[in-house]
Amino acid sequence: MTFVNQTFLILGMARSGQATAGWLKKKGATVFTFDDNVLRNQANGGVKNINEIPWDSLTSVIQSPGVSFSFPKPHPFTEKAIAHNIPILCDINLLSISERQSKFIGITGTNGKSTTTALIGHILNQNKRNASVGGNIGIPALSLEKAGTYVLELSSFQLEISSFLNLDISAWLNISEDHLDRHGTMEAYVRAKENIFQGCKSAVISIDDPFSLSIYQKIKNSQPTISVSIKTQADVWVSKGILYEGSKNIMDLNPLVTLKGVHNHQNAAVAYATTREYGLSSLEITSALKTFPGLAHRLEIVEKTESTLFVNDSKATNADATACALESYKDYSIYWIAGGRPKSQGIKPLKKHFPKIKHAFLIGEAQDDFAETLGRDVSYLKCESLDRALKAAVEKINEDKKVPSVILFSPACASFDQFRDFEERGDIFRNLARSII
Ligand code: ADP
Repeated sequence: MTFVNQTFLILGMARSGQATAGWLKKKGATVFTFDDNVLRNQANGGVKNINEIPWDSLTSVIQSPGVSFSFPKPHPFTEKAIAHNIPILCDINLLSISERQSKFIGITGTNGKSTTTALIGHILNQNKRNASVGGNIGIPALSLEKAGTYVLELSSFQLEISSFLNLDISAWLNISEDHLDRHGTMEAYVRAKENIFQGCKSAVISIDDPFSLSIYQKIKNSQPTISVSIKTQADVWVSKGILYEGSKNIMDLNPLVTLKGVHNHQNAAVAYATTREYGLSSLEITSALKTFPGLAHRLEIVEKTESTLFVNDSKATNADATACALESYKDYSIYWIAGGRPKSQGIKPLKKHFPKIKHAFLIGEAQDDFAETLGRDVSYLKCESLDRALKAAVEKINEDKKVPSVILFSPACASFDQFRDFEERGDIFRNLARSII
């Protein structure tokens, strides 16, 4: 596809929208933009109203993942594009149309996308395969350096917009309830994510939850599909921390500190299956798994004393992610800092993990709701703010003298009540932890 003399509308002008606008202009396209945020719209020279768009001559609308595509209703500009039969794409479609000679790997799932995306990128680059890593993680797709292989984290918001990505390998981690405010129902959420498989050459699917298993059963007869499991035997699977390919024992994952916990074993197994499918040898992959530096804000050990670990898991914005964290540290006395803006179920799904918690320190908008759920099962303190919670946790540990102990900041909440985003929240925790010991 040539972009010269083509006309595009970019809907949503945050980071990825701005990158798309610059990229299309460089390729000689005419670009109109719009953003609901009046200041951002003005700053990017956006149109003032819907009638300024030459709807009859648009090639396509490039919609940003932050703009509503369907629920509770489509954005008015999206509705107008649909009425005019104009294709709606996202930035990933543009990259794959323009870089046909490159390989594309896409990764999705409710949890573990960023870790697995970074891990696959790390494995490829350690083995000199020139991979660029981005999408929903870090750098927007159209700001990435040209590469032989693009490794892209894909969110449900991106996938809802971008059908027919025709990826070389589509990797799928898991599905649990999340983002229903944007998709309406679980079925719509799963349907959006399933777009990752449209036109793909091979699929890697972790089959450990009912939704994922049924998708595997649906697609395995129509395209090459590799199953992955941490619960049962599969093409690639993990049992007691040992990674297997078929019946072959590949490696012990237990010693890998940057991939701690059963959930990370799922990420490692999906990364292994994906890079095997890409063409690397077992040995090339296992050597790289051992050198993965890990990602900030995901079970990141930010400080250590003789008795206590300080762990920043600010990325745990839902109960499922926090369940993984509590499970990973079940051999420690856990002093848990949680709270923020709660998700619909709060921490009710964590009830079976309550016995692992020594004491909870609650912050943010969720603190009353979480306190009610903890009830008499877990002793807790309402602290309002992160700095007070950390101070209280350190004092309690000094009092209790439990060894080994961990201060686990795994909020099970969004950050927006007190912080810009989960990164700012995690950075603040890291700084506080470093200054307190
Ligand atoms: P995502 O990009 O999908 O949000 P991340 O890799 O950033 O995923 O991890 C987010 C959180 O989810 C982390 O706090 C981690 O504890 C948890 N997590 C990571 N991998 C998994 C997994 N495979 N299953 C469930 N939870 C996971």
